[in-house]
Amino acid sequence: MKIGVLALQGAVSEHLNMLKSLGVEAIPVKTAEEIKAIDGLIMPGGESTTMGRLITKFELENVIKERINEGMPVYGTCAGMILLSKRIKNYSQFTLGILDITVIRNAFGRQIDSMEVDLHVKGLDDSFHAIFIRAPIAVDLGTDVEALASLEEGVVFLRQGNVYASAFHPELGNDPRIHKMFIESVEKFLNR
Ligand code: GLN
Repeated sequence: MKIGVLALQGAVSEHLNMLKSLGVEAIPVKTAEEIKAIDGLIMPGGESTTMGRLITKFELENVIKERINEGMPVYGTCAGMILLSKRIKNYSQFTLGILDITVIRNAFGRQIDSMEVDLHVKGLDDSFHAIFIRAPIAVDLGTDVEALASLEEGVVFLRQGNVYASAFHPELGNDPRIHKMFIESVEKFLNR
């Protein structure tokens, strides 16, 4: 199993370290060839307008969409969630248009730079200590989208088929359960 972390900008090494600590081969990817050769992709947090511009510049839009259509699992954290969404309420910017959700960027107010919350996550027995950094939220979920964790403001972890997205950063901190969940979906993809 080989999982790629999109390495155009943002929190790349934290995801790589978490995946490696779980015994998975994890590599930074930034070309179409590299994205064709992986079994799962993580799109990290960072700055979604910058990352979107780089996806366009390096012509990665089609290959990411093709791999998603093939069933390859993809997981976007924070800026990655924004880039996977179909609709953004408060900005006009490039997205891949995959997730049938509306995203509100910086949903907790610009003055709230970061916060930590013990979240109830569907599929996990105990709460998950989630770190949010200038985080988005998802609202108006389409019928194919399953909410996996929510706050009062909206949905913060969700899944649409083989695509996962969270508003928070499970790669920060040392709880590997969400990455394990993603790795299990990559295992299923490989054994399909
Ligand atoms: N606020 C950032 C954006 O809109 C996302 C923040 C993050 O990824 N931690 O792109």
